[in-house]
Amino acid sequence: MGVIKDILRTMDYGPSPESSEHVGVWLDEHKAGFGHFINGAFTKPGALFDVFNPANGERIARVSQGSAKDIDAAIAAALKAQAKWAALSGFERSKHIYALARHVQKRERFLSVLETIDNGKPIRESRDIDIPLVARHFYHHAGWASLIDSEFPDTKPVGVCGQIIPWNFPLLMLAWKIAPALAAGNTVVLKPAEFTPLTALAFAAICVETGIPPGVVNIVTGDGATGAALVAHAGVDKIAFTGSTEVGRAIRKATAGTGKKLSLELGGKSPFIVFEDADLDSAVEGVVDAIWFNQGQVCCAGSRLLVAEGAADALYAKLRARMANLRLGDPLDKSTDVGAIVAPVQLERIRRLMRQGEEEGLEFFRANDSLPDRGCFYPPTLVTGVDPASVLAREEIFGPVLVATTFRTPDEAVALANNTRYGLAASVWTENVNRAFEVAARIKAGVVWINSTNMFDAAAGFGGYRESGFGREGGREGMSEYRIADEPKPKPSASRSQRLNASPGVAPARNMDDAPDRTAKLYIGGKQARPDSGYSYAVLDSSGREVGLAGLGNRKDIRNAVEAAAKASSWGAATAHNRAQVLYYVAENLAAREDEFSRRLRAMTGMSARAAKSEVDASIRRAFVYAGYADKFDGAVHATRARFVTLAMNEPWGVMGIVCPNEAPLIAFVSLVMPAIAMGNCVVAVPSANHPLIATDFYSVLDTSDVPAGVVNIVTGEANALARTLAEHDGVDALWYVGDMDGAAQVEALSAGNLKATWTSPATIDWAKTQGRAFLRRATQVKNIWTPYGE
Ligand code: NDP
Repeated sequence: MGVIKDILRTMDYGPSPESSEHVGVWLDEHKAGFGHFINGAFTKPGALFDVFNPANGERIARVSQGSAKDIDAAIAAALKAQAKWAALSGFERSKHIYALARHVQKRERFLSVLETIDNGKPIRESRDIDIPLVARHFYHHAGWASLIDSEFPDTKPVGVCGQIIPWNFPLLMLAWKIAPALAAGNTVVLKPAEFTPLTALAFAAICVETGIPPGVVNIVTGDGATGAALVAHAGVDKIAFTGSTEVGRAIRKATAGTGKKLSLELGGKSPFIVFEDADLDSAVEGVVDAIWFNQGQVCCAGSRLLVAEGAADALYAKLRARMANLRLGDPLDKSTDVGAIVAPVQLERIRRLMRQGEEEGLEFFRANDSLPDRGCFYPPTLVTGVDPASVLAREEIFGPVLVATTFRTPDEAVALANNTRYGLAASVWTENVNRAFEVAARIKAGVVWINSTNMFDAAAGFGGYRESGFGREGGREGMSEYRIADEPKPKPSASRSQRLNASPGVAPARNMDDAPDRTAKLYIGGKQARPDSGYSYAVLDSSGREVGLAGLGNRKDIRNAVEAAAKASSWGAATAHNRAQVLYYVAENLAAREDEFSRRLRAMTGMSARAAKSEVDASIRRAFVYAGYADKFDGAVHATRARFVTLAMNEPWGVMGIVCPNEAPLIAFVSLVMPAIAMGNCVVAVPSANHPLIATDFYSVLDTSDVPAGVVNIVTGEANALARTLAEHDGVDALWYVGDMDGAAQVEALSAGNLKATWTSPATIDWAKTQGRAFLRRATQVKNIWTPYGE
């Protein structure tokens, strides 16, 4: 018996290579180079670049470098195809998407091998995870196509979508982009990553096979410049991007003011939190899936291990033992756990960061330093004793490197978890269900996996908080990114940026002390506050007569207001019932002062008594509507995997900036501020610059309605100047702007700093009709929490 035990212990795996014969034949057939896929056909290969197998450095294909002209042609094809594709019935579109799913499934083995050769990921992963999920995405979205009219009423497709994807999950990212876009009635131009374009080209061949109408799917290969040309093209209605935060930021700036819809799925530095009561053996397997899956080249990789001090030694010992069993090598070998890094430049990036870590004196553990003689390989690495300020704890390494830090209390764990500019994902390991959900709720991330990690499914939304981007992919949340309201094209707003001394409604600034009693002050932290500038401006009526003075807010006032809003964050944790009660009280108090508000509206705008009464009445009704909604904008439980509960929770952004238009000063203010606070946000509002007194009168309504201090802050003044400060402020999590084109462009461009979510409307809004769920959706972000059940 002793002998058999010894044999089992010392026995090694024999080679178990997956055959690449069919893929080799296909690549040989395209030896002359691949063209782009435009308007249903492959173009003749143009200027070519090489594509390598990162596991051995050999060239496997030559692919065309997409030029601005190629992008032009692809967009033209997509534009031409769009109306017809959108006009097909949902059922017809569904059949096309279903056919794509079937054909992907039929070619699973081919696509898995091709993906592994192109990207370097182990065949076990491409075969068992990537490609089955690709098929799942197309099946799932075939369903949405046929349900679109009933499930997304009053909406229409966005139009032509430009989609840019990275190299870490090449075909899966393509599926995440193309499947929902097509299901929603859009056409697409997709640019795969330069390192990994081959499965996208194989997918193009599948599109020919299944008979997708020409122009519905277009694929243009190339580098960053090709991507930039796609982003810049005037024919694109929406950009969907997955990749680095740096490029995401550039795309935010490039699309600012163009009216293009944008969703960004960016980087992460996701925490993997292990409490003392966790099942450590399961947690070790979780770590393997979190950071050594796909060589750690995963945007949501659990790359920061945060472990309770009392469990750290035991966990590290188990991890080191497990690392010794990870098999690194030929990605085509079916028993390989860790494959190749995608390209030499990426390998060098990992090495550079490791050198920086070594200079910091960090402790490194690698079970196996013997690497294959050729190809891009990096061994699984555990770095312990990492200070949260270390470069390795802050930078996205995008390699098989786990950095570990200990914590003492749950509060400290949450603080460390949130100590990052990112917010893509988190894993929480504990046997205590109360603690698991408490921590999940407090972590600022778009996805939280409890006692699990890296779970994906087409039915669940995926996407980040903070600098991990905005927008979701997957499920209903993802589908809504590809639809817009079905209404006639709105007229550009008549709102103009308020230039003091120049605008008809705003007279020159004056010293506040000239008329202290008549000046409506700012409202910050529940108190009236003198503007930092010490100046006020005269508010004029329609005939140019002065009706009062308003404080001239500046950058410092906005900063104070943001600080006050951040301090009031417990509003977001209040029960929805409590918030509803407060909002009802606001509505009631506004109703009690109906006449006074009507008179003020008339005095400021010169509108008729009837129109003023009608605006006040509508505002009261609107306040009641959002009070009613406060506890009714439910999340969902997604139907994902067996024995998992996947909760989609609508969470407030935190601090929201709201810049109101000049027109309809009361109802616009109420229509924007009330849904935001109903969802638990704290707000810094800039009211109508020409008619600010209606909002400053609103203080007293807030004061008498039990709205906690700091939940609503009001800063009056030049709207676009104040919008600028809000857009630049890193403490503002989301910003709504309704005003002119220049202001909207400015808000979008400047929001690139912390990648805050923006909603801008440079068009006239019919406030009497505009209310409801669309506002609540924009006032929240969805967190998906995955929890397994069963022993
Ligand atoms: P990028 O963000 O550069 O690439 C993502 C995609 O964007 C690729 O298709 C790329 O083209 C394209 N692209 C590059 N520049 C532009 C541009 N100016 N305008 C439009 N599109 C552009 O990521 P990298 O591949 O350079 O990887 C760098 C780092 O980014 C990684 O180390 C990792 O930290 C992070 N990353 C994060 C990913 C995620 O999923 N969140 C995925 C990939 C990387 P091309 O490939 O030809 O350069």
